[in-house]
Amino acid sequence: MEHESNADIPLFLKMNAQDNTAIIVNTGGLKQGVQFSCGLTLIQRIPQGHKVALSDIQPGEEIIRYGEVIGYAEKLIQKGSWVKEALVNLPTPPELDSLPFSTNLKEVRPLEETYTFLGYRNSDGTVGTKNLLGITTSVQCVAGVLEYAVKKIRQELLPQFPNVDDVIALNHNYGCGVAINAPDAEIPIRTIENLAKHPNFGGEVMIIGLGCEKLVPTRLNDGNDDDNILSLQDEDGFVQMIASIVKMAEQRLNRLNERQREVCPVSDLVVGVQCGGSDAFSGVTANPALGYATDLLVRAGATVLFSEVTEVRDAIHLLTPRAVNEEVGKSLIREMKWYDEYLNRGQVDRSANPSPGNKRGGLSNVVEKSLGSIVKSGTLPIVDVLSPGEKVRKKGLVFAATPASDFVCGTLQLASGIHLQVFTTGRGTPYNLSMAPVLKVSTRNTLQEQWHDLIDINAGKIATGEASIEEVGYEIFNDILEVSSGSKQTWADQWGIHNDLALFNPSPVT
Ligand code: CA
Repeated sequence: MEHESNADIPLFLKMNAQDNTAIIVNTGGLKQGVQFSCGLTLIQRIPQGHKVALSDIQPGEEIIRYGEVIGYAEKLIQKGSWVKEALVNLPTPPELDSLPFSTNLKEVRPLEETYTFLGYRNSDGTVGTKNLLGITTSVQCVAGVLEYAVKKIRQELLPQFPNVDDVIALNHNYGCGVAINAPDAEIPIRTIENLAKHPNFGGEVMIIGLGCEKLVPTRLNDGNDDDNILSLQDEDGFVQMIASIVKMAEQRLNRLNERQREVCPVSDLVVGVQCGGSDAFSGVTANPALGYATDLLVRAGATVLFSEVTEVRDAIHLLTPRAVNEEVGKSLIREMKWYDEYLNRGQVDRSANPSPGNKRGGLSNVVEKSLGSIVKSGTLPIVDVLSPGEKVRKKGLVFAATPASDFVCGTLQLASGIHLQVFTTGRGTPYNLSMAPVLKVSTRNTLQEQWHDLIDINAGKIATGEASIEEVGYEIFNDILEVSSGSKQTWADQWGIHNDLALFNPSPVT
């Protein structure tokens, strides 16, 4: 990566020697007539994060960033001019049936030092990073009652159990009024099942149902009809409902309060990575630094999930060569095809992504966004592929298929069993999850300055030459261990802000 340091001089970032575009680094952009030390002169004003043409690009010629084609020139783009979105024609997506498998497998060299963290060991061998009472719901009808009960539990009971971090209602909008036997209904159902068994809940199960819903509560309790389930239709009035829920919670809080943190190897950790509110710096600063941290985690024996199908689709030709074997390669293709068909059914295509904010941030199209997105996955082999909401089953780098929507991806990664999510953002979003910490990494110095009490790590200093990708990568790695150990809290957890669960339900609502 070429860059020039010192914030006051005109600065652009070129990611690969073959690139004929680079992005403007300076805050506020650069004016017409500005000259770079290499001699390039801007022939028009270009905003920060947007692309400048490094040479004349002829009509129909390839527009290159990250050494990859991100589009074709609509008409002549002059050297020193702004490569605006309208000038970039979208290339056709990679053909899924002729991709190479396992041709780029890097050796996973274990880290020399052994790393550990302090986690809560569960009886089934899994580990938690928080100590939470999770109250599952089998249908949305019970949400209001449960919210009332949880408020009461937090105020009146929780202070008596100092080792328990919080009480959480797993409210969602599924369970009835849905085509429960539709083939794709397995996605929301297994998501709820797996959320209920999250390792941060310490093996305690508590399910609140209504009594007549399609998603019968026993499905969430391994088929057992026991005192882990309470149905509101069995209770005599509201006051009794609340009393019964509080009593159930108290029994479980007593047991959870006995949990203690102990030293656990990093191989017990499952970390999710995601980006949201991306900009042109995402793929230059925060995502490469996170990719470096991903490699460190995998080399330390941990499991890392990367997701967001619509942001992987246009770079899939760079991922199938990293599939550890043909089976994993075919699973990657299967998930891409499923999503292509899902989008077709809704009569949309991948141009629905990026968002307007992404475009204002300088991202021309989904191809450019994808190239900057997949660097989060690091460089090592992909050992497994999960369908949406499936539980993690292998250690190492795993592709967990999810939509790119921050909340849906977050919910599905939680169902897969992540203990922590690292979230890179360029435009800025206060997104957080209640079940596991979300560590936020900003792509630009200006976002970190503006949101100093929401952003946990600033990768913007990579663009200005104040830190290297490796340095920020290690910073992310060390913060993951500290936050997982409970010795450090993310900003969003300090404020206690959380987004609701958002299920992915591709099947019909009736
Ligand atoms: Ca996202």
